[in-house]
Amino acid sequence: MLALTFKNNTLALDPHHPEPTLPPGEALIRPTLLGVCSTDIELCKGYMNFNGILGHEFVGIVQAVANPADSHWLSKRVVGTINCPAKACDFTARGIPEHARSRTVLGILNRNGCFADRFTLPVANLLHVPDSLPDEKAVFTEPLAAAFEILTQVTIQPTDKVTILGDGRLGLLCAQVLATKSNHVQVVGKHDKKLALARSWGLKTTHLANFTPQQDQDFVVDATASDSGFPTALAATRPRGTIILKTTVATRPDAPPINLAPIVINELTVIGSRCGPFQTALDALNHPLSPIRVTDLISLTLPLSQAVEALSLAKSKDNLKILLKP
Ligand SMILES: [Zn+2]
Repeated sequence: MLALTFKNNTLALDPHHPEPTLPPGEALIRPTLLGVCSTDIELCKGYMNFNGILGHEFVGIVQAVANPADSHWLSKRVVGTINCPAKACDFTARGIPEHARSRTVLGILNRNGCFADRFTLPVANLLHVPDSLPDEKAVFTEPLAAAFEILTQVTIQPTDKVTILGDGRLGLLCAQVLATKSNHVQVVGKHDKKLALARSWGLKTTHLANFTPQQDQDFVVDATASDSGFPTALAATRPRGTIILKTTVATRPDAPPINLAPIVINELTVIGSRCGPFQTALDALNHPLSPIRVTDLISLTLPLSQAVEALSLAKSKDNLKILLKP
């Protein structure tokens, strides 16, 4: 089968990749639409020391299940959460299986991803996609869930001042989600086209060149995918305010050191925020009156056979979401 692999520091399309074997409790899925994410780009820079098939954002059809009791999933259109706990541990007992010590993560940690003709995922991770929700929207479930994760971690009031640092894919999703709570959301970014898109949704925007941090924001989300985001967030957040970190970047050996003193001096709360509630995201995508626009973010859809090109296009600052069609 066709698969996009990152192995031994090399990104390559493998037209003859072995078919996946179906482990107990898992489903074989034929993806119908795939999303390229900044995480995929970071993995290719050495983040997580990943080796294998890339990809974790998908919509697909269940083609086979290992366990006959799961056969009701056959032919169902699904999305899937990406963390797969291999066995029970103190974290699964705490109700946070997405942090399980033994976990594998689709296309990120010790598990082949979905940028292939077929891949497997535990049935427990699957969510049914309603017929009314097209693939072009459902493929955003994973990144939109990551944006909704913020609302499971903090309570945002309508009067709270919220700044999103970063006008990329995730930044724009976070901005839309937080704008459902606060009337004072601004997006700070470097790209006129992306900021114009945010304004078309009714959001306030500020070009980074004109942004002077004033220590006046109740919440600052760092979605810059850059190590300059955190120092800016520190300077923009009011005393006892909250910084939400959404950026996962490969560490550079020459990265500047981070001064943590402002966190102490200003009694800031810093929250790491990763994967989120899929059902909430699916419901938001499927709601006819939802203010969240995802298809506006699609820059290009390419065949899976052009996946290498798709990843390099996703790096370009002019592009937002690049989709792949197997
Ligand atoms: Zn992603």
